[in-house]
Amino acid sequence: MSKYFNPRLASLEAYTPGEQPRDRTYIKLNTNESPYPPSRGVRKALDRQRIDALRLYCDPNATLLKEELAKLYDKKPSEVFVSNGSDDILNFAFLAFGADGILFPDISYGFYEVFANLHGLSYEKVSLKKDFTIDVDDYCKQNKMVVIANPNAPTGLALPVKKIEKLLKANPGHVVLIDEAYVDFGGESCADLVEKYPNLLCVQTFSKSRSMAGARLGFAIGSQELIADLEKIKYSTNPYNVNALTQAAGVAAVQENGYYMRNCRRIIKSRNYTKKELEKLGFEVLPSKANFLFAKTDKVGGRELYLLLKEKGILVRHFQKERIKDFNRITIGSQKEMEAFIDAVKEILGESL
Ligand code: PMP
Repeated sequence: MSKYFNPRLASLEAYTPGEQPRDRTYIKLNTNESPYPPSRGVRKALDRQRIDALRLYCDPNATLLKEELAKLYDKKPSEVFVSNGSDDILNFAFLAFGADGILFPDISYGFYEVFANLHGLSYEKVSLKKDFTIDVDDYCKQNKMVVIANPNAPTGLALPVKKIEKLLKANPGHVVLIDEAYVDFGGESCADLVEKYPNLLCVQTFSKSRSMAGARLGFAIGSQELIADLEKIKYSTNPYNVNALTQAAGVAAVQENGYYMRNCRRIIKSRNYTKKELEKLGFEVLPSKANFLFAKTDKVGGRELYLLLKEKGILVRHFQKERIKDFNRITIGSQKEMEAFIDAVKEILGESL
């Protein structure tokens, strides 16, 4: 750290993204990307004309993209916010709405704590129940912003919309941010509640179900007032935070939504296959509604399994955190990748293939 660094941030612990090693080709099951490529329209949208137009600034309002998203989710464009990945939206939302403090689960997306610390906000990590579920009563009437990933990461467990509604009713004075990064893989979205609850901010991403993690595109749905607040922060940070190529790719992706939803169904099928196979091998596997599984076995430690799989060219995500260190988070890839993963696990456990 240089002597010039802001002393308030001296103890900030930055987020550690999942590894992206380049030393060999891996079956990458560690960062919840889609195994399927972007749709044809996305490829077409990134044409020569679009590249020539890069000399111009992009539309800071991302008008077309907001219109397409609004159509898809039956909202007004003024109820839609877009940003450079959903991380960007979380960052803005913490800054905009977290002044009274923030509640989020102790086991959830690691970036929540980083954003709270970055902005000097007070926060409380609420323990998940023994079975890793979230009890929404723990978050009711606490007079703080609430942030919940639904489905949660890395557990994959989902809450029904009814429970989210309870939270919204119990916290009218504060924003309830529901991070729906993984909702397209079998969860229930609360986007339809936006008209009824002005304190709801529903955040989604193109990184998982829409095969565009590298393009960096996230969006939020909320009341016009909440969206205007986020716009204020965005225009005070970087008005051009969704670049022209990403905007064009995003429009095409929304127009071809059916393709992506079909891919989600394929991923759910492979998830069911992988869960069953792991259970046959004696793993405990949480019932996931996301594009990953969270699993452990008594036969080999969490970190050891992660390392042995890596040696075999398969990357999964291990978190060295007390309550979950026996688990690994396994992204659902293509069916072929999942079969290779199961074969590798069998080899490691000395089971016959
Ligand atoms: N929320 C959750 C729960 C996530 O797991 C992730 C992915 N790391 C994100 C948000 C951020 O995704 P992105 O910035 O790629 O949209």
